[in-house]
Amino acid sequence: MKGKEDIIETIRRCILEQIPREAEVTRIEFEGPALAVYTKKPEILMEQGYIIAGVVNTIKKRIVVRPDPSVRVEEEKARLAILELVPEEAGVGNIFFDPTLGEVIIEAEKPGLVIGKEGTTIMEIVKKTRWKPKVLKKPSITSKIVSNIRHLLKSESKERERILRSIGERAFRTPTFSIGDVRITALGGFREVGRSAILVQTKESQVLLDCGVNPGATRSSNAFPRLDAPQFDIENLDAVIITHAHLDHCALIPYLFKYGYDGPVYCSPPTMSLMTLLQLDYLEVLGKQGRLPPYDEKHIKECVLHTIPIKHGVVTDITPDIKLTLHNAGHILGSSIVHLHIGEGYYNIVYTGDYKYGRTLLLEPSTSSFPRVETLIMECTYGGPDDIMPSRVEAEQRFITIINETLEAGGKVLIPVPAVGRAQEIMLVLDAYIRRGLLIETPIFIEGMISEATAIHVSYPEYLSPRIRSEIMKCVDPFKSEYFTIVEHSSERDEIIEGGPCIVLATSGMLEGGPSIEYFRNLALNEKNTLIFVSYQIEGTLGSRIQKGIKEVQMLNDEGKIEIIKVNMRVETVNGFSGHSDRRQLLAYLKNISPKPERIILCHGEATKCTKMASLISKNFGVEAIAPKNLETIVLK
Ligand code: ZN
Repeated sequence: MKGKEDIIETIRRCILEQIPREAEVTRIEFEGPALAVYTKKPEILMEQGYIIAGVVNTIKKRIVVRPDPSVRVEEEKARLAILELVPEEAGVGNIFFDPTLGEVIIEAEKPGLVIGKEGTTIMEIVKKTRWKPKVLKKPSITSKIVSNIRHLLKSESKERERILRSIGERAFRTPTFSIGDVRITALGGFREVGRSAILVQTKESQVLLDCGVNPGATRSSNAFPRLDAPQFDIENLDAVIITHAHLDHCALIPYLFKYGYDGPVYCSPPTMSLMTLLQLDYLEVLGKQGRLPPYDEKHIKECVLHTIPIKHGVVTDITPDIKLTLHNAGHILGSSIVHLHIGEGYYNIVYTGDYKYGRTLLLEPSTSSFPRVETLIMECTYGGPDDIMPSRVEAEQRFITIINETLEAGGKVLIPVPAVGRAQEIMLVLDAYIRRGLLIETPIFIEGMISEATAIHVSYPEYLSPRIRSEIMKCVDPFKSEYFTIVEHSSERDEIIEGGPCIVLATSGMLEGGPSIEYFRNLALNEKNTLIFVSYQIEGTLGSRIQKGIKEVQMLNDEGKIEIIKVNMRVETVNGFSGHSDRRQLLAYLKNISPKPERIILCHGEATKCTKMASLISKNFGVEAIAPKNLETIVLK
């Protein structure tokens, strides 16, 4: 207890010494991994940015300026004041107040006009309302999830404040142990794809990287990470870090809250929205399949309240001896490579999560340069000798040829897609090829969570490729096309199935629940139709079995009886759209990563791919490379 007071007291004294009296600082509080300076005159500290920069330089902690609640103008009055100050051409949409942070989110078609020349308009807003504006591009489609999260954080404002304070107190505690014993334990996703989870420990800290399920698991014993491992102790867990919003990386975080976890979940801002969408859908799909969910909706809410979004590139103290920085992973929107800096220059770990070392329409290639790295934990989904993907151009041409052949023969094309990432990428490809006259004009039906996931994409333009970002900033919706029809309700499905040639994009991507299964059930028998896989099929999923060529599938019909579905439709896999690095890209990454790691630990790949890749790397790169099994602990330093 005393230690904590010492640290906060030292920091408080330092801040008060450097901040001018006229700023009227009222209090200094922990706000998650940052320190919040509450002031009655926020404009002074915002206008004279060098004051806070100076303090940050001295105390080496993140500082945020917060207007004191006593001076904030009532929300309705503040809203009117904002509308009066901002020119009409700015196209202001939503104005949303967040009392926990004292921020007002202003969405506008032209954010630049809200900011004003050299920030003059924004400063006027601060002076008039004493709320801190956060200006965002108004998205062309409103995301329900983004809006629900905002409302939840607002209605639970008091609880959120308590959580942020306790997270800060824990992160800034005076360390009990001297630095040492850096180790990791493989809890899931080693020599397999699915249920990713890695425990990182020092004497002082315990951090969990990812916490997913294995969607292809047949038994519950191999569906969840090994949280029963003796090394894992939920009571002493300091932080959870999530690389990206795919179920095999994020589905089980709410489960931790069910069992008493009360700490932070760090991830990028888009990941926060996307993973909430996926967790809610996960519960729904389990419910429809009559399976027992591992947690309830209230645990997803707990997860949202404990999530601290951090932008790529920002260094954050998450425990007394671990600093976290997230970098672009190029895999899906908001996907991150995790960099952990342990001790003051003592040790550095980089965990790639799923990553793409190559450009896609949606995203930039993953970051390969870090301040330091001793151990690299790398995925190798496509690490096998045959995992050489065709070039993007070849992949697109083959994809379009298969579709054209099917449409010409009067068939329908079913493309099962994960809602996040591949769906948006495929939408861009289809629209572009029709417009260039290379793909036969045809209706494209989109069903499942895809439209909500797309709405989340347009809400975070800064995480997308420069081309897509600039279209969004120019108010062009890159995901809109005259050929797309969003299927809102399952009752519309019959008409599509009975109708003429078309393309159907539906979730889930591995034919495990979701509308893609319903389309498959109805389209499988007709040999004129085609099923095209464009994403990785985890071993054991229905998608993976069909991909391998099974000709009969047992499925439950509406009356709950087993029916046999004959697979007469053409089944194709088009590689090259993947959000993962292929073998060449994995090896290119190892060649180009800077600085060179001393040790490489492989994960997220089938057993033989991991082990063979490890021996290849040891031989060719002259560094230690290993492919541990789940439950193995590796002492790094
Ligand atoms: Zn992934």
